[in-house]
Amino acid sequence: MSPRTLFEKVWSAHEVVPQTADTPAVLYIDLHLTHEVTTPQAYTVLRSRGLKVRRPDRTFATMDHSTPTETAQVFGGIPIKDASAARQVAQLESNCAEFGIELLNLQDPRRGIVHIVGPELGLTQPGSTIVCGDSHTSTHGAFGALAFGIGTTEVGHVLATQCLLQRKPKTHAINVHGQLGRGVTAKDLVLAIIRQVGVSGGTGSVFEFRGPTIAQLSMEERMTICNMAIEAGAKAGMIAPDETTFAYLKGRARAPSGAAWDAAVAHWRTFCTDEGAVFDQQTDIDASQLVPMITYGTHPGMSVDIDAKIPVTQGDAVFDKALSYMGLSPGQTLKGQPVQVVFLGSCTNARLSDLRAAAAVIKGRRVAAGVQFLVVPGSQSVKAQAEAEGLDQIFLAAGAEWRESGCSMCLGMNGDLVARGAYCVSTSNRNFEGRQGVGARTLLASPITAAAAAVAGCVSDPRDFLP
Ligand code: SF4
Repeated sequence: MSPRTLFEKVWSAHEVVPQTADTPAVLYIDLHLTHEVTTPQAYTVLRSRGLKVRRPDRTFATMDHSTPTETAQVFGGIPIKDASAARQVAQLESNCAEFGIELLNLQDPRRGIVHIVGPELGLTQPGSTIVCGDSHTSTHGAFGALAFGIGTTEVGHVLATQCLLQRKPKTHAINVHGQLGRGVTAKDLVLAIIRQVGVSGGTGSVFEFRGPTIAQLSMEERMTICNMAIEAGAKAGMIAPDETTFAYLKGRARAPSGAAWDAAVAHWRTFCTDEGAVFDQQTDIDASQLVPMITYGTHPGMSVDIDAKIPVTQGDAVFDKALSYMGLSPGQTLKGQPVQVVFLGSCTNARLSDLRAAAAVIKGRRVAAGVQFLVVPGSQSVKAQAEAEGLDQIFLAAGAEWRESGCSMCLGMNGDLVARGAYCVSTSNRNFEGRQGVGARTLLASPITAAAAAVAGCVSDPRDFLP
């Protein structure tokens, strides 16, 4: 057999029927992750057609997108304030009960953002196919899974058949070499990749992030990278599983154990790109040249080095519209730009290592007057671990808000919103117009850049605040 890429191996292992010129392939799905927002319609269709869920044992549900983050609404017996969120939560509970789907309900200590919970429980495994009704399903590719977001109609297809109709994507290697500098994080690296490739540079492709820099990253950092592959237009992002992957998974609740563990690892090791395999496209990145990054526009490709100026372009209507929305000017330096909100959260950057890094910056300092610093752990497990380490006390002593887990201000469906015209340094993944609230102005950055902004009250270089 000729050498194959990681993607090609996972794809062919799940191809039930190959694609033809006229028809897409039928792809088998190993794991279907679901949540309260993109499932109600799919269950209604199933019910109306008298269908069951084909593989309830391969379907898993959590609540995250619209769930409240205020403790009183989660544990205090106070009803969920937002009426549509309350409806979605109740509907997911009844749908899961009716169709026999395992659900982490609002008070479950394992609940959290779907892309954080899957890996935490060991549900996310190398060589598997994973889908979810959320674009950032690409996160799970950090484990060598082929993982991508699907629409509500496709959620129904997978519930009913455990399969999906798909055109085979092309392959694109993102080769990263060079040591990341002090204060330069996985978030900065992926923002730099998106800037270089472009927000549609990955269209129709699956990225494989590879090279010595990627091999040195922790699983949490790899998840941050794969999470944002979609922001360069890619179908998915993948990283070949290695010892770091296996060490992360070992002992997790849903990972294989005993003899099955050894057999699984032996199988997982086969999911790597063969020597001599050919990618459709390649991009090379020198990570040693990077500095902390921040976005200035309305898509994640509009980013600059933390101390650089916003570019000056002539006659680019899209660029001009983005800057007008953001209230910024070409040639302006973003450093020093006052901010009103800082959001540390989302499936991109709300894992324990992210909270630790931000806490190290904030420790012994105060959040600047007039700044709301919202800290939303990615899962209840992350929250509990952070509290066991005393990170919550560091944030609270600084004047930050310490919340229950959920998507929160990543998309503002639960009422955690940024006011019109306000600037928010956010560790999330999208800075589209209105993403964090009507008229909200989002500046994407790493957890330490966010923490530095919270302390200074303006966009700042995190390297000036590192211990
Ligand atoms: S945190 Fe944001 S990107 Fe992640 S699952 Fe929630 S809404 Fe989607």
